Amino acid sequence: MTTPTIPAPPWLSAEMAALGGARESGRVPHALLIHEAPGAGGDWLAAWAAQLVLCTKGGATPCGECPGCRRAAALQHPDLAWVRPLEESRQIRIEQVRELSADLALTSHAGGYKVGILTPADALNRFAANALLKTLEEPAPRTVLILVATQPSRLPPTILSRCQRLRVRAPERAAAVAWLNAARGKADWDAALEVLGEAPFLALNADPSQLADIGADTRSTLDALLTGTTDPVGAAERWARSDLPLRLLCFEIWLTEHIRGGGPTGGFLTEMRAAPYLSGGGPFLNIREQFGMLDEVRDLRATLDAPLNRGLALEALFRRLAPASRARSGGRG
Ligand SMILES: [Zn+2]
Repeated sequence: MTTPTIPAPPWLSAEMAALGGARESGRVPHALLIHEAPGAGGDWLAAWAAQLVLCTKGGATPCGECPGCRRAAALQHPDLAWVRPLEESRQIRIEQVRELSADLALTSHAGGYKVGILTPADALNRFAANALLKTLEEPAPRTVLILVATQPSRLPPTILSRCQRLRVRAPERAAAVAWLNAARGKADWDAALEVLGEAPFLALNADPSQLADIGADTRSTLDALLTGTTDPVGAAERWARSDLPLRLLCFEIWLTEHIRGGGPTGGFLTEMRAAPYLSGGGPFLNIREQFGMLDEVRDLRATLDAPLNRGLALEALFRRLAPASRARSGGRG
């Protein structure tokens, strides 16, 4: 759980100042959509905003000491509700939204605001989103709904249009490393973020050296698949057995780097142009195929809890990376 007990991420200071100004001047929005880059701190900002409006001092920052602040930080404030997908589901369901709406319609326990946080809001299913829309259309006075989403485009436009939007971008590497050092103590956070991408909040609860090890192993497997020096079947079995979610995240980052042409080996494109069977011109794993593979990796990540044979799915992807397969598909555009 991310709460403001963690040091304030400096890359959120502009958003915090904007919210603080709104609180001071009594213009707190009824509905806020925090559109975050993955792991950039959307939940943290939502928790901070909740504390801001529940703080009994009513200033531009939460005082951190009043009962309102302390209860909100301890997740024990009767006027603050967090709504997340239930454990066994990846969705926020209509019953959860109805319960929240009923709760928000009641008078505040502490005589101030009532706050509901939905995260990740892109997990609202269609029925839940419709139910939420009713609450957004007729907000009770002094209620604040905060939606946190990495992909707000998954939400209906009718919901988006009723929310004030705050964009939380991925921080610079140096800022993220400095913040992790402050939050978790000194470690090789740079190596950890090399694995996770610019997502310091994903790194927050991880073991940085373990992350770096898995990341390095994952990358060397992918590079070996490209040069045909490792067996796709064995590699797929190994991945499916251990740390698969993290490995798929690394795979996604690795592909993204290659698409940008900035990978450690200079990118697919460079390598492909250098290959002898490319005399016909364009790269055989063309940009469309690379994006296609990226989509498939993302789909695999999104369905990790579904009963699929992930070893087989991975093996199919790995075979397409192997030189023999790339040579065969060389002529196709
Ligand atoms: Zn306070």
